[in-house]
Amino acid sequence: MRQKNQNLLFIGTIIFFIVGMIHITLALLGILCMVLPFILRAWSGKKLWCTTYCPRASLFNKLLKPIALNRKAPKWLFSKQAKKAVLVFFLINLFFITMSTLMVGLGRIEPMIYLRFLIAFKIPIELPQMFAWDAPNYLLHLGYRFYSMMLTTTTVGLMLGTLYRPRAWCNICPIQTLTK
Ligand code: SF4
Repeated sequence: MRQKNQNLLFIGTIIFFIVGMIHITLALLGILCMVLPFILRAWSGKKLWCTTYCPRASLFNKLLKPIALNRKAPKWLFSKQAKKAVLVFFLINLFFITMSTLMVGLGRIEPMIYLRFLIAFKIPIELPQMFAWDAPNYLLHLGYRFYSMMLTTTTVGLMLGTLYRPRAWCNICPIQTLTK
């Protein structure tokens, strides 16, 4: 039963990407995926999120198990240095998101209401928005930044998972590194 529930958690990842297309502020739900792993870790003393509840790991298993090439990964890819590099990138991303949202809130810069890949590269696709609710600029900006971060990490995870094994991303995932 527990295994079955885990297998269905991938729906959470799909829902996240869909609700972001209903209105980008709903992408702020992604914050849960960043906070819950630490709450569960503190509460249980174990990496419960990674072993049981992560919807993204469930998505990788679901989509990639049948097609993963299961190649041998180069050693450097999952080395300690690689984990550190991904963690630093993640923290820089969070810093950028926080500071830029603050600046938008203070009216110093315009909101970036578009998607980016790996922080720097603008994705030339407009995210559909099914509803045009009014929302403050800083929330729109924050929503796009979270959606971009989730899109980036999920895309990289899908690429690694296809080349190596489905949950290859977990070896360098910053949440895993931080909850250890
Ligand atoms: S390592 Fe990252 S992707 Fe893998 S289960 Fe943990 S939080 Fe999810």
